[in-house]
Amino acid sequence: MKKIFFIILFSCFLCSLFGQSKTENIIIVTLDGFRWQEVFGGADSSLITDTIYVRDTASLKQQFWASTASERREKLLPFFWSAISKQGQLYGNRWKQNKVNNANKYWFSYPGYNEIFTGYPDDSVNSNKKIWNQNENVLEFINKQANYKDKVAVFSTWDVFPYILNNRRSGIFVNADVDTLRFNSPELKLINEMQFLTTKPLGVRPDLLTYFAAREYLKTHKPKVLYIAFDETDDLAHEGLYDQYLSAAHAEDAMITDLWKIVQSMPESRDKTTLLITYDHGRGYAVKEEWKHHGEKVKDAGQIWIAALGPDTPPIGELGTEQLFYQRQLATTIAALIRLKFQPRHPVMEPIYSIFKK
Ligand SMILES: [Zn+2]
Repeated sequence: MKKIFFIILFSCFLCSLFGQSKTENIIIVTLDGFRWQEVFGGADSSLITDTIYVRDTASLKQQFWASTASERREKLLPFFWSAISKQGQLYGNRWKQNKVNNANKYWFSYPGYNEIFTGYPDDSVNSNKKIWNQNENVLEFINKQANYKDKVAVFSTWDVFPYILNNRRSGIFVNADVDTLRFNSPELKLINEMQFLTTKPLGVRPDLLTYFAAREYLKTHKPKVLYIAFDETDDLAHEGLYDQYLSAAHAEDAMITDLWKIVQSMPESRDKTTLLITYDHGRGYAVKEEWKHHGEKVKDAGQIWIAALGPDTPPIGELGTEQLFYQRQLATTIAALIRLKFQPRHPVMEPIYSIFKK
C-alpha cells in the first residue's frame, strides 16, 4: 500500500514537472533555407513579378498571389495556415517582433543542422564538407534510451547528413540521397529503383523520393523518432528560380499534410506524436537580390522560424508578441518533449518551454 502511495506521489511529481505530457513520438521536418518572410507573408511582391526570377509571372501569380499576406501564406502553405495555425504554434514572425535566430555565426547548412541537433553553435563547425561531427546530437542521445533503441530514423536528400549526425558513431539509421534502401517491402524496393533511375537536376535525389522512402519506412518500421530533411528550396533559391522555390515549398507542405494524416491514422502514433518543422538558416531580404543567398555576409540570413504541432503543444497559433528564441534550443526541446534531459558534454540552452507547457 505504502509502495503504491509513493509510486503515485512520484508520478505526480513528474506530472508537475512536465504537465500531463502525451508525446511519445517525434517527427522533425526541415525545409532547407526557406525564409520566414514566405512562411508569414506568402509570395514576395517584389519577386513574384520579376522576370529575372520567374519564367511565367502570370501563372505564378494566379497560383500564389492575393492582396493580403494572410491570404498569400494560406495559398502557399495550406497545412501551416490551417492545421498548425489553429492547433499548433508558429514562431519567428519578425513583423510582429517574434524572433528565432541562429546562434551560430555562419548561417549556412552544416552549422545550422549541427546547431539544431547538438544544441551547440560550435565555432569549429564551419564547413559543409563531409566531416564527421564530433558533437553529440540529441537523436543519438534518444537512441541510447531503452524505449527508443533502434527506433530513431533519418531520411535526407542531402548526402552530408550521415556526417552531421555522425551515424558511424551514433548508430542511428540515416538514409541519405541514394543510399540503397535495403528493405523487403515492395514499396521500398520500388522507391529504391526509382532513386537510381531518376534525373537529378539539383545533383541529389528529389525531395519527393526522400519523402516516400521516409513514409514507407514509417508505415512498415514505425520509428518513434523520424527526421525528414528536405533540400530543394535552398538549391532552387541559389539558382534564382523563385517560381520553383515557391512550388517546392508548396509541395513539401502537401507532403507534410500527407505525413500527418498517416501519423494520425496509426494507433502507434495517433495523438502521441509531436511534429516540429524548422530549418537551417535564413536568406537575404533587405537587399532584394540577396534572397538567393545566405552566409555570414548576408544580412538577415541568421533569422529562422519554427512550427510545432502535437498533443502537448498549446494551440496558440502564430506567436504575435515580442520574444527571442534560438535555433540551439531545439535540441533540448526535442528531448524534453519525451521527458528527457539532454545533457551532453558541450553547453546547451534551456528548451522552448512554451512548445510543450501551458
Ligand atoms: Zn544554401
